[in-house]
Amino acid sequence: MILKELREEVCAANKALLTEGLVTMTSGNVSGRDPETNLMVIKPSGVSFPDLTPKSIVVLDMNGNVVEGEHGPSSDTATHLWVYRNRDDVHGMVHTHSNYATAFAAAGMPIPCVLTAIADEFGCDIPLGGYAAIGGKEIGEEILRSIGMSTAILMKNHGVFTIGKNVKKALKSAVMVEDVAKTVWLSMQIGTPDRLSDEEIASNYERYHTRYGTKNASIIDFE
Ligand code: 13P
Repeated sequence: MILKELREEVCAANKALLTEGLVTMTSGNVSGRDPETNLMVIKPSGVSFPDLTPKSIVVLDMNGNVVEGEHGPSSDTATHLWVYRNRDDVHGMVHTHSNYATAFAAAGMPIPCVLTAIADEFGCDIPLGGYAAIGGKEIGEEILRSIGMSTAILMKNHGVFTIGKNVKKALKSAVMVEDVAKTVWLSMQIGTPDRLSDEEIASNYERYHTRYGTKNASIIDFE
């Protein structure tokens, strides 16, 4: 079995979609790209998450040829491949229909940057991409056209796609986008959420991506 470690990681990340409450039945998928061989490993199509094993994960080359796998690859394979082929920095990708974020996608609304958590993680409004049919490279093209600096995008009438420099980062983005979508949706029931200024968004993003979780996480200066 080739790419054992990446298969294990992608298998665990797919199962995490279920435990994080981001998917139901067989919807959604996670993939990862090996930086050395440039091969992609992805969830097999239509297999339920508890049944996934590292062995059942499908390995493909960047042209979509199956290199190893007993099952057919995810129906979103062409989308994942298109993004990897055109973004050298991306090595992990997640797709879900998580409820709150997908509610925005169904309504054709981006998620405005009205929370520090959105500014921290994404650094911008979470964008909305146009509708594209499942199965070909069109969703991938639309993701790349519309995602900007964000690691998450809502695809109209469909769901969420997230990208990351590795599988773990793409998974975190998928968890965070659902969390903030729920909070923004709740906020919209009681009032009109107020977007942060571009300056505050940039400053939160910079802090989170340079100091958060480090020894210099809190720089206390009362002067
Ligand atoms: P797969 O089981 O083929 O990955 O399909 C799930 C899905 O969410 C399609 O958009």
